[in-house]
Amino acid sequence: MNDPSTPRRYTVAVRALCEFTAKAGDLDLRFTPSPTALEGIAGHAVVASRRPAPYEAEVSLSGQFGQLLVRGRADGYDPAANRVDEVKTYRGELAAMPDNHRHLHWAQVRIYGWLLCQERGLESIELALVYFDIGSQRETVLVETRDAAWLRAHFEDHCRRFEAWAEQELAHRAARDAALSALTFPHAEFRPGQRHLATSVYRTARDGGCLMAQAPTGIGKTVGTLFPLLKACPGQALDKVFFLAAKTSGRALALDALEQIGAAAPAARPLRTLELVARDKACVHPDKACHGASCPLAQGFYDRLPAARSAALEAGTLDQDRLRTAALAHQVCPYYLGMELARWADVVIGDYNYYFDLSAMLHGLTLANQWRVAVLVDEAHNMVERSRRMYSAELDQHSLAAMRRDAPALLKKPLDKLNRQWNALWRDQEDSYAVHETLPDGFVNALQQATSAMTDYLAEHPTEVHGALQDFYFDALHFGRIAELFGPHSLFDVTLDAGRGQKTGARLCLRNIVPAPFVRPRLKLARATVMFSATLNPRPFYADMLGLPEETAWIDVESPFEASQLAVRVASHISTRYRQREQSLAPIADLIAAQYARQPGNYLAFFSSFDYLRQVAALMAERHPGIPFWEQSRGMEESARTAFLGRFTADSAGVGFAVLGGAFGEGIDLPGRRLIGAFIATLGLPQINPVNEQMRERMQQTFGAGYDYTYLYPGLQKVVQAAGRVIRTRADSGVVYLIDDRYARNEVRRLLPDWWDVRRATSAS
Ligand code: SF4
Repeated sequence: MNDPSTPRRYTVAVRALCEFTAKAGDLDLRFTPSPTALEGIAGHAVVASRRPAPYEAEVSLSGQFGQLLVRGRADGYDPAANRVDEVKTYRGELAAMPDNHRHLHWAQVRIYGWLLCQERGLESIELALVYFDIGSQRETVLVETRDAAWLRAHFEDHCRRFEAWAEQELAHRAARDAALSALTFPHAEFRPGQRHLATSVYRTARDGGCLMAQAPTGIGKTVGTLFPLLKACPGQALDKVFFLAAKTSGRALALDALEQIGAAAPAARPLRTLELVARDKACVHPDKACHGASCPLAQGFYDRLPAARSAALEAGTLDQDRLRTAALAHQVCPYYLGMELARWADVVIGDYNYYFDLSAMLHGLTLANQWRVAVLVDEAHNMVERSRRMYSAELDQHSLAAMRRDAPALLKKPLDKLNRQWNALWRDQEDSYAVHETLPDGFVNALQQATSAMTDYLAEHPTEVHGALQDFYFDALHFGRIAELFGPHSLFDVTLDAGRGQKTGARLCLRNIVPAPFVRPRLKLARATVMFSATLNPRPFYADMLGLPEETAWIDVESPFEASQLAVRVASHISTRYRQREQSLAPIADLIAAQYARQPGNYLAFFSSFDYLRQVAALMAERHPGIPFWEQSRGMEESARTAFLGRFTADSAGVGFAVLGGAFGEGIDLPGRRLIGAFIATLGLPQINPVNEQMRERMQQTFGAGYDYTYLYPGLQKVVQAAGRVIRTRADSGVVYLIDDRYARNEVRRLLPDWWDVRRATSAS
């Protein structure tokens, strides 16, 4: 945003300037979704290729107005015709485009027109809005001619309307940076390990790049990462810090840490913090659609936005409740107000997907505005699994069939064609699951035609409600986008649906296995990225999966805990393998009972599945009826989860039975007497099934580590997370039983934390 060498200059992109000054009227998402990024690029290339030489594509332009530097890239200039093109790709019916979109496009091309006139000494110029229909490849061109004086006045008018805001932003930035320079650590001293973490984070912000920080629970990771990044903001001219979390609890910790930092340094109050939540959580009218004719908070949204934006930014910290209150005070949608405020906030807290998914808003804004950002990724061991989901897509043929039954007549033909191509994919398939090397062109084309037809239909009938059609449409669009990016990082698999011995359809999945090609460019875009977690071991696994840049720094922060705090016992006389499960039930129940008798208190016992859990629980009730225990159940509601955790009190005693990798395997905090031990009756290895076996093969081909990357490392990561529930503070002590003979093996033992004192448990223990 600001050039550090000339701090009194405010740089703004042409698009951002116009969005600020020229957007008016309703929020209207009916004309979306827009073409994919690749379609957009291809559309621009088609238009440029149709223009005669010496056509200039992508002309970089800039202009000054007072302290404002306005810059951008015009799509094309034809010197022979003296015409500047602003190209907009679209799908659907152009006439359905809301007027305020058109108004915004004119504002943009007129600003480019002036910047060209100024740069090339032109007296007038032809301005062309080129609407390019992705489906038909046809152009609709709207043209006007303006003289330089008119365009200059237009440019200055927009700059003037933005000037006061820019002035305010410069003042805010100066105050923010002064406050952050003076920031002091919010506690009397660093906790053990916290200083190591904080200095490493600071160095990463200073030098740029990526840091992987394995840091144990209890050292204050959130303050230990946020504080040094905030400190680094002024010196490194960082525009924003993004704190990305996998869960709501991570967002809450970040808000709390910022509160502590702010409380210790009241001068840091100018910091603007924003919490982003998903649209379904933020929406005030879930029964309505996001356009002015349906939702009152979308109607006149842009007219009320300036006042709402100014008032909201005054609040400083905008968690989801404050954001909602601020939005409703001005009758605008809280979700879309949050999207707008992300442009102006200093710290944005949200889910991973706001930066990492394919059309991530924070990533898009960073690119468009050339922000210098620092990205913090909390509980980063989740990134592998979460990224895979972001870059995967699934389509179900039964959903197509159900939707087709009630689909408008116009759509039947393309949907039937899609269905025929779909059938051709599995007609000769014998096994219930099969992987294809490539995506067949026939299917991809039929899918494209069907989505185009649905886009046109939905754009032409914006007020009709088509639940099943829309659901399938969005799934199909997503599938199409992921299909464009298909490569060796993903599998294309077909799973048959069968009923009464007959094949009835198939589910198609573009299943991302290695998210690295998608994650890496996002890491490279940020000035600094810090990923932190208690379990980032082994390093090559995370480096390969996430595509970490070669120069990534790694630290392993020493644990603040003593080995004497945690007794780790390996029960190697028991095997939890599926075929020995029956024989393992009684020894596990007896082991739990023996430990409980020795030291009554609260324990968690983890199993690989609900079945296994129930079998041991049944035997426990029979053999040791005096020991209280309670069980996790499948799909537990929030209230039931709270009740489960509520049984762990400082005065209670009993055993909570849970599934490893489930709701109680990580992210829960039961310090002191609330939890004194854990039994882990599994290695956490993912189930052997056709999908995982395909993944293993791909991992073997790509990294030469099929079993480790597919089964062993993800399994042990869950084990270490679950065991990490026992010791939360330096005052805690407890015991962990690792139940399986494979825990005695070296390749497994080396994946356990260094500070653990691992010993063999005897069958009597
Ligand atoms: S309140 Fe809900 S329906 Fe209305 S604009 Fe916001 S997200 Fe859309």
